[in-house]
Amino acid sequence: MTNPHAALAAARAALLDEHRQLTLDELRALAALPDEHVPALAAVAHDVRLEWMGREVEVEGILSAKTGGCPEDCSFCSQSSHFDTSVKATPFLDAEEVLAAAAETAALGASEFCIVLAVRGPNAIVMDQLVRLAPLVRERTGLNVAISAGILTRAQAEALAAAGVHRYNHNLETARSHFPEIVTTHTWDERFDTCRLVREVGMELCCGVLLGMGETVEQRIELIGELRDVAPAEVPLNFLNPRPGTPLADRPLVEPMEAIRWIALFRLALPDVILRYAGGREVTLGELQAMGMTAGINALIVGNYLTTLGRSPQDDLAMLEALQMPIGALSAAL
Ligand code: SF4
Repeated sequence: MTNPHAALAAARAALLDEHRQLTLDELRALAALPDEHVPALAAVAHDVRLEWMGREVEVEGILSAKTGGCPEDCSFCSQSSHFDTSVKATPFLDAEEVLAAAAETAALGASEFCIVLAVRGPNAIVMDQLVRLAPLVRERTGLNVAISAGILTRAQAEALAAAGVHRYNHNLETARSHFPEIVTTHTWDERFDTCRLVREVGMELCCGVLLGMGETVEQRIELIGELRDVAPAEVPLNFLNPRPGTPLADRPLVEPMEAIRWIALFRLALPDVILRYAGGREVTLGELQAMGMTAGINALIVGNYLTTLGRSPQDDLAMLEALQMPIGALSAAL
């Protein structure tokens, strides 16, 4: 087994002195460090975050503009129409509701506002609404606009880019080898293709993952390699918050120190991405949420998630103040 001190020193030298990416084998060695070395791993990840991305933290609000009733069967998702959950399908919010939510997000000091729709992909009506809304939100609030609306055609991706959409969210969620156990109504390759398309038409790619769905350590390493292939500007890191009624309802939460280990590993693996705290952090990390901010995270979703409640934005802003981490806009395109 690798000497933990040697593995940590090698990671530090590679990322801070040589300014090179770690190999997947180097990441495997770090993933196998005994638990007592996780704080030291987090410390290296924090230094890497400061060196590669700076002290600033990007704050984003998300709005579920069309909730529930999704025809896809993602096993973790309470918005799927395949499962009997408490989430009720609602139609697309009207423009004034979206603009009001964006204004609230801007008032928190956020720089990014993401409009999320529970759909397989946008139909013509949804596309019309998005293309009209994106510039309106930008003009009225000054926020960068992000959209998450599922699988895109090239024409749709081009239309969103032309409407000024800054970032498009499309998650890989989990490793290609694990995906068929989680979703059967679309393939991992369809997701991968949309991720590539987003970048090809000039939008930034926000490509998230969801840990804690029964994937192995090796599959998490595989996922890191796959993320490198799509080269996202941002990676939202979600931890499974098991939703009643879904097939993953009885899965255990990721242990808090295990979550810190993987936050650190994602930072070490992807030193130049915006690594965002996303869903599940409150139930998974509990008292360790501030520790995640010093383990490689440099962005937050504040307020509520799509179907679960987050803690209050004021608590998050107070945490950032206590950590002396200024809020700013981070963008690979700037
Ligand atoms: S994760 Fe997205 S695509 Fe999958 S069921 Fe939920 S809303 Fe639909």
